[in-house]
Parts: sequence; C-alpha cells; structure tokens
Amino acid sequence: MLRRRPSLVHPPGILERLSGRIRGREQMLVRGDPDWPLLLLSYPRGALDEAKEVEAAYTHTFPLLTQETRSPYEALLPALPAIVVVLLRRRNPCGCLGHYHPRGTESRLTRRLASDLGSATGEIDIAYEGIREWQPQPLSSMALGDMGGRLASLHVRAATVAVLMHELEHLAFPDAPERETRGRSNALYSAVMSGLVAAESDSGYGMASSPPRP
Ligand SMILES: [Zn+2]
Ligand SMILES: [Zn+2]
Repeated sequence: MLRRRPSLVHPPGILERLSGRIRGREQMLVRGDPDWPLLLLSYPRGALDEAKEVEAAYTHTFPLLTQETRSPYEALLPALPAIVVVLLRRRNPCGCLGHYHPRGTESRLTRRLASDLGSATGEIDIAYEGIREWQPQPLSSMALGDMGGRLASLHVRAATVAVLMHELEHLAFPDAPERETRGRSNALYSAVMSGLVAAESDSGYGMASSPPRP
C-alpha cells in the first residue's frame, strides 16, 4: 500500500509563477505517478533537452518498470516531501553525478517555494554531462545485438532514472549508508538498462515484463 500524501492547498498559482525564467535558468514542473513528489526542474537556458530527459525518466520510464524493480523505492514515499526541486547542472566540480541538499543548504528558489507553499520541499542536483559520460559497468555483458548508436541514449535514460532515485533516497533517508543506497541504484540501473535494451531489440520483452538477467 502506498500512502498518498495530503494534496497541497494552493500549489498551481505559486508553481506557475516560479515556472518560467529566473536569472538565466528555466523551470519545468514535472508530475510523475501521483504517489510520487512533484519535481520542479531548474535548468540552464539551452538545456531543455536535458530537462526533458529527466522528465521522461520520471514520468515514463520509472512508472513502467516492473513492480519488483520499483518496490525498493516505494519505501521512500512516506519520507519524501511533496515537492522536490531538481537543479540540473552540466557537471559538479567534485565529479559527483548528483547530490541531495540537506535542510538549510537549499537554493533561494527552494527556500522561497517552501515558504510560499508552507509545505515540505526538498532539493537535489543532478549533473547531466557527468551522467552521459558515466560508465557504470561493461555494457558488453548485455545482449546488445545490433543496438549500435541507440545504446548511448538508453544509457542516459537508465542512468538518469538511477541517479534521480539515488538522490531521492538520500533525501528520504539521509542517514542510510552510502554503500546500501549505491547498491540499490546500481541494481536499478542494470534493471532499467536490461529492460530498455530488451524492448529496443525486439526480443519480445517489454518494460512491463521481467528483464532477462544479464
Ligand atoms: Zn560531490
Ligand atoms: Zn550517494
């Protein structure tokens, strides 16, 4: 059973006001599965495609994963705020693919949103260039067939899902050991990648079926 968080009293006007352009950045409101937080993506001008990648990962790819694949993440739901601001960056200077921002370290955008809405708001960042270049495991271990150039875009999608969920887990459970959070998101990456590859290679498996074990 998923707990549905109470709906926000008056989000639309405030969120629309915060959407649009703020100092060289643009905002996009993303609604995924109703049980999951709203995401407010904040991205540099010119990075609309990267923002749409995050939107597709959250609204399309993640909800279509098998129940078995999603279930470890459903434990996060009661601990997540109703709205999460996602700051998209090209890269993080430290090389990380993402961070969660502990309470008190959020950007002005998030602090303003939290005070306007009077509700819990969280913040994470994700680094889209870093995600593109990330090489989590030898892809040769998968049955790739003649995937060729599509592989890079499948990797970006799977890695975006994994990094997003990794940082949302930190936001929900900041004290969980990194090793465990990392183990879960690596397994998520593998499952998403296998599912995407299977769906693309027309092997008769779709995202709604169990992906073959690599
Ligand atoms: Zn870092
Ligand atoms: Zn981590």
